[in-house]
Amino acid sequence: MEVLLGVEALESGYGSIQVLWGSSLEVASNQCVVLLGVNGAGKTTLLKTIAGLLPARKGKITFKGADITGLKPNSRIAGGIGYMSELGIFPNLTVEENLKLGGYFRSEKDNRKRAGEMYEYFPDLRAYAKKMGASLSGGQRKMLGVAKTLMSHPGLVIMDEPSSGLSPKFVKKVIEVLKFLHEQEKLSMLIAEQNVSFLDFAQKIYILDKGRVSFDGDVQELKGNDTIRETYFGISR
Ligand code: ATP
Repeated sequence: MEVLLGVEALESGYGSIQVLWGSSLEVASNQCVVLLGVNGAGKTTLLKTIAGLLPARKGKITFKGADITGLKPNSRIAGGIGYMSELGIFPNLTVEENLKLGGYFRSEKDNRKRAGEMYEYFPDLRAYAKKMGASLSGGQRKMLGVAKTLMSHPGLVIMDEPSSGLSPKFVKKVIEVLKFLHEQEKLSMLIAEQNVSFLDFAQKIYILDKGRVSFDGDVQELKGNDTIRETYFGISR
């Protein structure tokens, strides 16, 4: 399988606090990868470093074979990497304005067309186009976050805990939408999550533990590992 995103021995952190200690992972073209890890494991830090919002201290990030380690976030977006933070949207802007911002680097014509596609995918958003992001429900906010990220036509979407703050019903809906987009737009995804509902959707799973990758494999391998099962699923044999 062709490697789309490559992360090699990445080190990153905040000031004197080092969080990532040589993390490596790969996302292949048209692959959905889930990054598991308990609170504080470094998932957000890893995604932010891939998005260029935090500088890499050591290591290398490649996208479509090119070294992007030193690129600014804007160039990464323009190059096809979409990043959705945990909050995902700007609550003080309308739905329409959020989408427009998501397509900041595209032409106005393209933005209009793409927003139309997003409204087709997420009809609720059309109904709320003139409403503030803050007035949306938790589930609708996540949909807007996904739509906003898609406005730039990414080939790879990296998402920070798309399930956070959502009821199980909405988590199911978000997974359905991501599955649909994966098939419809051939999107590759790297999703940081703590919610195990995402595992069956993943073709590959990494576990981040204190800034280091401690496991990679598919869901069967994950479930077959006693220690991991107890830590992440709370089930022992
Ligand atoms: P969570 O699920 O709780 O968001 P996470 O796996 O995403 O966890 P990170 O948010 O990457 O983990 O945090 C990793 C470590 O970095 C934690 O110890 C955290 O306290 C620390 N950290 C995060 N942001 C900052 C910051 N801005 N300044 C200093 N330390 C930070």
